[in-house]
Amino acid sequence: MATSVVLQNVLKRYGEIEVIHGIDLTIEPGEFTVFVGPSGCGKSTLLRMIAGLEPISGGDLVIDGQRMNEVPAAKRGIAMVFQSYALYPHMSVYQNLAFGLETARAPKAEIEKRVQRAAEILRIEPLLKRKPKQLSGGQRQRVAIGRAIVREPKIFLFDEPLSNLDAELRVQMRVEIAKLHNDLGNTMIYVTHDQVEAMTMADKIVVLQAGIIEQVGAPLDLYNSPKNRFVAGFIGSPKMNFLDGKLTSADATGARLQTGGSEIVIPRAIGQVGDAVTFGVRPEHIGITEGSGVPLATVKVDLVEHLGGQTMLYATTADGQPLTIAVDGQRQVALGSSLTTYVDPARYHLFGKDGRAL
Ligand code: ADP
Ligand code: MG
Repeated sequence: MATSVVLQNVLKRYGEIEVIHGIDLTIEPGEFTVFVGPSGCGKSTLLRMIAGLEPISGGDLVIDGQRMNEVPAAKRGIAMVFQSYALYPHMSVYQNLAFGLETARAPKAEIEKRVQRAAEILRIEPLLKRKPKQLSGGQRQRVAIGRAIVREPKIFLFDEPLSNLDAELRVQMRVEIAKLHNDLGNTMIYVTHDQVEAMTMADKIVVLQAGIIEQVGAPLDLYNSPKNRFVAGFIGSPKMNFLDGKLTSADATGARLQTGGSEIVIPRAIGQVGDAVTFGVRPEHIGITEGSGVPLATVKVDLVEHLGGQTMLYATTADGQPLTIAVDGQRQVALGSSLTTYVDPARYHLFGKDGRAL
């Protein structure tokens, strides 16, 4: 029943300017796919081309094996939920949900059945008689999602649907949309600039930058094995540390990387003496007790943040580079103190001059 979506070399030009540069992507039936990337990278444009709201300048969009480029939006079996819920203010919740079906001349009994079902799924049955202004932000966004559900689309598209909600509500709605996906089993594509949303909701994350795909993978694949520095820095919170370094020796068996004021032995061939190599390590993979890995750098602690579950140390290496370290929440560390840091050899990343993982 679920639907596949395939993009083959999909391009978008606005006049002379190309903003999407040949996207190849396969979305499996029933998959929850998240497009994530910084503002302006082309997430909405890509989604709108899939929806049929924006013409495709080149390449093919294939849904369930059929080329869809020229098929009008209404015939693609797609429903889209936007950031602005745009409910009709003078209509009740019921009427807002029923409106699209009424214009499509669906039979009254069918409309009633579908509205009831959507209301049940979203747990907004007690709100059906209210007007939008009598609802909270989260309830309004649920009604907007309900309008998509009643259409019984093959594919749901979401464009930053939670951006207008406060932080607590965003977390709650995130869980609800994930649950909706579990209940309905439809193919869903969700656009966000928030990597936490991507990590928590996605079966498959598509990281975009400037109109190209940087990497596609399951959340933990991207976290564990970023292909390049952009993905490494974008996925994961707090962000990965990047230390500049230089190879001081290199041969077929290994290399030595000078970084952070010390030298790290890399037990594999990675380049030539003198190469600039960036050393990447996540704050949660740095230890400050002996035995927690190989020595990385001696640092001076500039700032301590107690978050309860975690303590964040903002420090500076001997050669003046910033390093963020996440340690146990109860750990007491004095400001200005000097620490030796350690890294698990299996959990650091190396990037070449072009940003690609080595
Ligand atoms: P995102 O949703 O990732 O923030 P968009 O898909 O909205 O990004 O935009 C991608 C790029 O396309 C941006 O550089 C934006 O300026 C450009 N763009 C979007 N819509 C238009 C348009 N109608 N005309 C010209 N350029 C546009
Ligand atoms: Mg957008």
